[in-house]
Amino acid sequence: MGRKVILTGDRPTGPLHIGHYFGSVKQRVKMQYEYDTYIIIADIQALTDNFQNPAKVRRNVRKLAIDYLSSGIDPKQSHIFIQSMIPEIAELTVLYSNMVTVARLYRNPTTKAEVSHKKNLFGDSGESITYGFLGYPVSQAADLTAFDCEVCPVGEDQVPHLEQAREIVRKFNHIYGDTLKEPKAVLSSHARIKGLDGNEKMGKSLGNAIFLSDDTETVTKKVMAALTDTSKIRKDDPADPDKCMVYYYHKLLENKNIETVCEECKQGKRGCVACKRELIAVMEEFLKPFREKRKYYEENPEIVDEILKAGTLAARRKAKEVMKRVRKSVQIDYFGGKSI
Ligand code: SF4
Repeated sequence: MGRKVILTGDRPTGPLHIGHYFGSVKQRVKMQYEYDTYIIIADIQALTDNFQNPAKVRRNVRKLAIDYLSSGIDPKQSHIFIQSMIPEIAELTVLYSNMVTVARLYRNPTTKAEVSHKKNLFGDSGESITYGFLGYPVSQAADLTAFDCEVCPVGEDQVPHLEQAREIVRKFNHIYGDTLKEPKAVLSSHARIKGLDGNEKMGKSLGNAIFLSDDTETVTKKVMAALTDTSKIRKDDPADPDKCMVYYYHKLLENKNIETVCEECKQGKRGCVACKRELIAVMEEFLKPFREKRKYYEENPEIVDEILKAGTLAARRKAKEVMKRVRKSVQIDYFGGKSI
């Protein structure tokens, strides 16, 4: 029995931050030793919102691969691949799009929330909603099934998309016979990591993130500006660490000194500047192994390209195998199913 397939990935729209690391990448690093791991760099999906800016997507493909590699994704264990180079995904998307009604797509809670966000943003009545955007869960179903994925680690907001993918698989198998594997969601360990400003979400574009690629100077600047308990005015005022983002990150990064930080804060024996300096030191220690690996890959971009090429070839091999089964089931395997 081979190992079960897991599929994860990201859209190449910007650098990964520590929210991504704790929210998903850390778990992937662990899981790559237990599962046959495919990591998709979803450039086609990134184009859904960035179709007018393909240079941004392209620029971020290799950067994202470097983020993965410096976070501990091992190319000997994981196939890191580029979505647009797997045409079978596009083929499956077309086939699945017949099986999902537009009403069902609109009912997807994540889509619904994003539609209302777009409406507020653009002040229109939905004219900015593209066919590609609405069909996002359909293409995600294609991503998952193209590799016989059985396990998919997701954040809570992605659960409705995964449920929709499972519906598509069940419908497909019901109509055409048992062909596709049904992916199962596994919730990421930390659903969401808060931003330095106290926002519930750390976000690329929210200005509240520490990126895995940030240098010492940037980390220092960001931590020094982090939100603390606003009731603490003077250095020796007692404060509530639970109202402080600095404390939140001390905890997240498992500062061994955490109990002292908490007690000294509560008793007014600790100033915020010193506390932030301590967090910077903890964060620098945390980022050290990432930086060492990043340096190697940034200095050797041809190695990154080789890894991407090998990962994409492996993914293509798998997708071709699945597509052969799908074509047979849908009776579009003309001329013996061989390409001409
Ligand atoms: S002392 Fe530390 S934990 Fe307490 S409010 Fe200041 S930064 Fe936050």
